[in-house]
Amino acid sequence: RAAELDAHLTEAAGRKKKGRSRTMTPKKTALVAGGAGFIGSHICERLIADGYHVLCFDNFQTGREENVRHLRRESRFDLIEGDVIDPLPGALARSTKSLAIVFDLACAASPPHYQADPEHTMLTNVVGASQLLRLAERAGARFLLSSTSEVYGDPEMHPQPESYRGWVNCTGPRACYDEGKRAAETLAFDFDRLGRAEVRVARIFNTYGPRMRPDDGRVVSNLICQALSGDDITIYGDGSQTRSFCYVDDLVDGLIRLSRYEGAQPGPVNLGNPIELTVSDLAERVIALTGTDAELVYRPLPVDDPRRRRPDIGKAKRLLGWRPEVGLQKGLEQTTAWFARAIERPRRKAAM
Ligand code: NAD
Ligand code: UDP
Repeated sequence: RAAELDAHLTEAAGRKKKGRSRTMTPKKTALVAGGAGFIGSHICERLIADGYHVLCFDNFQTGREENVRHLRRESRFDLIEGDVIDPLPGALARSTKSLAIVFDLACAASPPHYQADPEHTMLTNVVGASQLLRLAERAGARFLLSSTSEVYGDPEMHPQPESYRGWVNCTGPRACYDEGKRAAETLAFDFDRLGRAEVRVARIFNTYGPRMRPDDGRVVSNLICQALSGDDITIYGDGSQTRSFCYVDDLVDGLIRLSRYEGAQPGPVNLGNPIELTVSDLAERVIALTGTDAELVYRPLPVDDPRRRRPDIGKAKRLLGWRPEVGLQKGLEQTTAWFARAIERPRRKAAM
């Protein structure tokens, strides 16, 4: 399978070269594993704008070709289908000469998606990180891990600073993700400590925005899509649990700043928007924004669902000069407008 992918990529690269009017010699290449996903596609876009040649590597488990379709016109963009737990395609292995940075964003982030095949989720986090770290090591490239606020589990400390070691249930249904990310962090910091690769680790808190899947299953996309379609709005538990939601543009800016941070190993860095609200408050905001007359329905709270979550972003402010700029109202408006178009498009097609 790896050989097939390799042949495909070599052929695609040849086709691109022939069709190109002006050739560009890329000075720097970035690999984005999980690049066809929600956050990954925004990172690919930003890296292309910054002059990188981007290798977007994805198994399309939750990612979609349409997230990066607009980038496929670019000579500095290659989309490679494959799974980070399989042997990496030769085209990636051969990229080491120019590879400057590896972004490891590969892993479904929504609980229903990552719990659908927990073994694959665990392997994606651990085997995937190991393979990508080894690639970064061979290339002398930097490695950025997209870790998560889930490493804090159901936190006893609030807000959560990076020094908090978390309260995670290693036997529960979220563990394939939480513990997978914790193990990936362990691997990353061991590579860094041993001088095998320079790593940066971002602990990302709940992020939302355009290019989430309507069937993603996370709360922002669920509530907006339900409101736009007039379906019941699902609140899990009594809605008093809290989250802090960061708009994707802010997150991408934070990730890029962290990837370029030149000081001594900074350790993990929280990236998120510290404005905290309950799920019920979020539902009210969405209802007010969309003017829906959809009903609220209450469903059981998922097992091990964290009660509250808010990042302490003091470290990101200090080291990266970063803070989120997009308020919840503006972010929700932009996301709702995007979903309205995304939901409408297939309906229009079906009506034609
Ligand atoms: P997403 O599900 O949209 O993106 C994940 C991408 O990884 C998808 O394109 C998927 O197809 C791909 N993928 C999954 N398993 C793979 C594998 N084995 N091999 C190759 N590709 C694989 O999720 P997202 O919200 O864009 O999250 C991106 C990263 O950020 C994830 O690693 C996630 O854990 C992390 N993160 C996200 C959030 C958030 O709120 N969005 C919060 C914390 C951490
Ligand atoms: N949630 C909800 N309704 C939904 C989807 C999620 O009430 O339709 C709740 C979920 O139980 C959790 C919060 O919203 O308490 C955030 O869930 P999400 O899956 O978005 O992120 P995570 O739990 O991973 O932080």
